[in-house]
Amino acid sequence: MRGSLTVATIFGTKVRVHFTFALLLIWVGAVYFGQGGWAAAFAGIAFILALFACVVAHEFGHILTARRYGIVTRDMILLPIGGLARLEHIPRIPQQELLVALAGPAVNLAIAAILLILVGGFPETGWQSLFDPEARFLDRLALANLLIATFNMLPAFPMDGGRVLRALLAFRIDHGQATQIAASIGQGIAFAFGLLGLLGGNPLLIFIALFVYLGAGSEALMGRVQHAIEGYLAGSAAITSLERLTPDQRIAEAADMLIRTTQKELPVVDGMGRFQGLVTADGLVKGLREHGSEAMVGDIMQTDIAMIAADAPLADCLAGMQDGGKAAVAVTGQDGSLIGLVTMENLSEFMLLRSAQPNHR
Ligand SMILES: [Zn+2]
Repeated sequence: MRGSLTVATIFGTKVRVHFTFALLLIWVGAVYFGQGGWAAAFAGIAFILALFACVVAHEFGHILTARRYGIVTRDMILLPIGGLARLEHIPRIPQQELLVALAGPAVNLAIAAILLILVGGFPETGWQSLFDPEARFLDRLALANLLIATFNMLPAFPMDGGRVLRALLAFRIDHGQATQIAASIGQGIAFAFGLLGLLGGNPLLIFIALFVYLGAGSEALMGRVQHAIEGYLAGSAAITSLERLTPDQRIAEAADMLIRTTQKELPVVDGMGRFQGLVTADGLVKGLREHGSEAMVGDIMQTDIAMIAADAPLADCLAGMQDGGKAAVAVTGQDGSLIGLVTMENLSEFMLLRSAQPNHR
């Protein structure tokens, strides 16, 4: 994600902080400074930092549990609304998805339990202490952790509770069906939140409702896409009628190819036909501006494009494009020779054709 900075690497996963998070700290500091000077400002910022340390711990609950099932997480990002661990994929085995989803809130429950033991029990003033800057730091942190755990267990995507619900349903019914049901329940909850927010004039509740509603919708769409391409191989959806470039060609020749063909992505292969990289229309324009038309294709091609074996599941292509927001993945043979490309556009064409003949699986 743009505008974020890597601040640490924990257990091999980069922890990134978005710049808006720094704005949140400044805002909190300023509000508390207005109320009680420097001491209040520092206390306020310290609390937010402690809170987000707990959010990082929550994400690592997911990350480390997923790693037990062989799922790599390259980075997690801290946003003002919380943390986001980018798991390579979500496990499709219900038991694994259940444990990965539960691990996050479980970390916050554990932190809350330890803190409550340390301070000698639930604060007498109850939940009130959470919003009282005069209350004890550890009391507030314990309550905040309880709140994080509860909020995340709402049975609605993109919350952990949505995944828990889907996993529980998937023990009994088909994964795709489970996703649709869980998404519908999530949208129902979002609707109720929105209504409560409107009636009570609470903008925060309306914001949460919108967030949940959109999250549930995109999860349902993703579920349908995955269901549609299940059982097909990467090779069956690849564009194979392609013109190719070599790394030593000039950018001018690539520009010419872009005009001459309907391709928006130009694959680059070596003399043996092995895939080397990809030139996109955007990359070409940028390359022309920065290096001029005499520069080499090899200097401007994207080399971090996923290579998917032709006999791998088609779902791998989708994952390859989503990972880092790439325009295409390369479908290759055993020896790395380029067979074709899979793009979002031709993947949706593929789905359209399949849905027109649903029984031709
Ligand atoms: Zn979580």
